[in-house]
Amino acid sequence: MDPILQGLNNQQQDAVTSISDVLQILAPPGSGKTKTLTSRVAYLLQHHCYKPWNIICLTFTVKSSREMKERIANLLGSKIAGRLILGTFHSVCRRYLVAYGHLIGVHKGFGIADSSDTAAIIKRIIKRLSLSIDAKKAQSRISSSKSKGLTGPDQQNKQKKEKVARKLAQKEDTEQQEFSIVFEAYQSQLAQSNLLDYDDLLLRCVDLLRRHPTCVSNVEVVLIDEFQDTNVVQFDLMRLFAAKNKRVTTVGDPDQSIYGWRSAEIKNLERMQEQYPGMLTIHLKDNYRSSGAILLAADEVIQQDSSRPSKSLLPTHCPGTMPVLRRLPSAEIEALWIVSEIQRMIGLTGRLLKYSDFAILLRSASLSRQIESAMGRAGIPYRMVGGKKFFDRLEVKILLDYLRVISQPNNNDAISRIINIPARGLGATTVKGLLEEAETRNVALWTLLRNSTQNTTRTKLSKAAEQGLGSFVNLILTSRNRILDRNKLDSPEITLGYIIEKLDFQHYLEKSHGDDHEARWANVEELVVQASEYTVQGVNGWTEDDDLPNIRGLEQQQGNAAEEALARFLANIALASELQKEEEDMEGKGALQSQVTISTIHAAKGLEWPAVFVPSAYEGCIPHSRAEDTDEERRLLYVAMTRAQALLYLSCPTKNSQREETALSPFLSNKPVGNLLVSQGPTPTSSTVNDIARILRRDSTSQAEIFEACETLQSMHDNLWPLTGEEEVKSIGAKWRKWDSNEPLEHPSKRRRIQDG
Ligand code: ATP
Ligand code: MG
Repeated sequence: MDPILQGLNNQQQDAVTSISDVLQILAPPGSGKTKTLTSRVAYLLQHHCYKPWNIICLTFTVKSSREMKERIANLLGSKIAGRLILGTFHSVCRRYLVAYGHLIGVHKGFGIADSSDTAAIIKRIIKRLSLSIDAKKAQSRISSSKSKGLTGPDQQNKQKKEKVARKLAQKEDTEQQEFSIVFEAYQSQLAQSNLLDYDDLLLRCVDLLRRHPTCVSNVEVVLIDEFQDTNVVQFDLMRLFAAKNKRVTTVGDPDQSIYGWRSAEIKNLERMQEQYPGMLTIHLKDNYRSSGAILLAADEVIQQDSSRPSKSLLPTHCPGTMPVLRRLPSAEIEALWIVSEIQRMIGLTGRLLKYSDFAILLRSASLSRQIESAMGRAGIPYRMVGGKKFFDRLEVKILLDYLRVISQPNNNDAISRIINIPARGLGATTVKGLLEEAETRNVALWTLLRNSTQNTTRTKLSKAAEQGLGSFVNLILTSRNRILDRNKLDSPEITLGYIIEKLDFQHYLEKSHGDDHEARWANVEELVVQASEYTVQGVNGWTEDDDLPNIRGLEQQQGNAAEEALARFLANIALASELQKEEEDMEGKGALQSQVTISTIHAAKGLEWPAVFVPSAYEGCIPHSRAEDTDEERRLLYVAMTRAQALLYLSCPTKNSQREETALSPFLSNKPVGNLLVSQGPTPTSSTVNDIARILRRDSTSQAEIFEACETLQSMHDNLWPLTGEEEVKSIGAKWRKWDSNEPLEHPSKRRRIQDG
């Protein structure tokens, strides 16, 4: 049998081999949509004579694109996989803008404004113009307008014109006017700093492909995963990428649409039929991910939405262990319970489950604090996805800002953040004055600073400040020159090393962050390791992730190789830290160590873990009190539950972090769901372990060993379960700390026996 089709069921094989130009695969979670899509890419390459650069494959997360690439590499070799145009929407659009942006006036070496840059720019505009509009509101309105394809206040106005005419209320009118002013000023500030925000990456790419369709004349097939979460701009991109011969495969599940709040259009699934009338739709039914019991409960939750067409999930696995629903006295105890349950299950299953098999999925990242601290105290290694991230840590941010200024000196905000780090006598008032002066003269801050060291047209500063300014400008100029110098071509790693040395950064950390300077220095070292992965290569040689094929008659923008490498490093960080929130940072060092994952539910899309916890399942959290669409909140819970393969734990503290009484989430409190959940952890028997092993298709350690582990845990079980009061949980926490080691929990008596033996 064709290795590409091996291990696929009949419907999946039909989808992989279909000769239909336009294909839509609609199927519930865990039915192998992503697997099928990946196999289809491999099949098209192998049997339809497409070249890798004929295929664009778009995913929602960095992680899933990496997994796809790996799978294709395993089937067809890494050279082929590396040349596919495969990645998230944002990263693929960026590649096109790097290569062809000059055709539509996107300047070479553009930087990416992440959400903190965007927030800073908007705040400054509002302050400068003394407007009263709320900065956060303006930011989210700008983004939401852009994700509907509106590129500026003019278009915005056109659409709103009628509505506004009707709204005579003074306040709304002013707000609308102010919004238009901010929008316009924001766009011109981005342009001046040569920055594109996340939405711009998509919008400008649409613009590029509309005006220069030949850029994608190499593209024969377009494939898109998680289609239910695309917005109108992404729909346009699909059409434009596929303009040449309209071959499109999309994969999706309306029940998992969870990005409506970000202007995703669930209607895009139906629009496919209008756009491509000959479309073939294939449904997959069998679920290969989760145990029967988990599927039953998840299904019962999603079925509460009566407006949705009824369909069922068909398990291929044994019923397994029933999902747990626990009510616990407080969020703190809930966190301790999770920690205790992770330890317990690792012990119970012998070596079958590892830390990396557990995920804790949160409605919002802010819920992680208690859990992180409980994990820390129990010595459990974890990685945080979608929360306070590596790249947001102060010392990392400072160095990245330096690199961003070196890469793109017109970035006013980055300059103002670092110009006085370490202290150079340029206090906040001085920097504000400089920024205002630059704005009045309508030049970038960098231009003002740079010119002023050569001739003095700018307002004079104190002697010390002038000196500090001179040293800053010098450092940026020398680092930039070293990148541009053909004899040097400093790689990102060398540039970073140079900056660290010139700033005497280690000493700076010691001086200004005495308490934890060592941990901070370790982060700096980690950043250097990551930078080392970006080597300086010829721009026209294939680099794994960046180049596009040459197209006859179309000049690709030529750049300096070292400059490109730095821009690529910075862009990958910016893209990894927004939607995807993949915590790329931890992958280098951290992947070696088995870690529990803590993630938002949104960032867990498309992924799976043997054991999943969904804490804080109370009304107000899920559904969230500020959420407008209750059905979307329900789907969010459904997505969370269907990430679990063998063990699913839902929990709800009776008091929230403000110590207010909570009510169980209405999605879980109705009877049919309740009947499918149990209030205690799985009873540790050898059949539990065997079930888990079967679902995971892992060869467990020997039966005897499992049995022994079960027996040991059975005896502990009576002591550990049920956990009722705070004191009990705390005492268990204390007990574990004594056993704390890198190994999974083992009963001390067992350890002794192994040593004796
Ligand atoms: P989601 O909607 O959550 O993104 P999905 O439909 O994309 O889910 P996949 O992630 O592709 O599902 O597959 C779920 C799991 O089932 C994976 O571990 C995959 O390897 C496995 N799987 C898929 N198809 C089969 C099959 N025919 N036989 C065995 N395992 C399969
Ligand atoms: Mg998937």
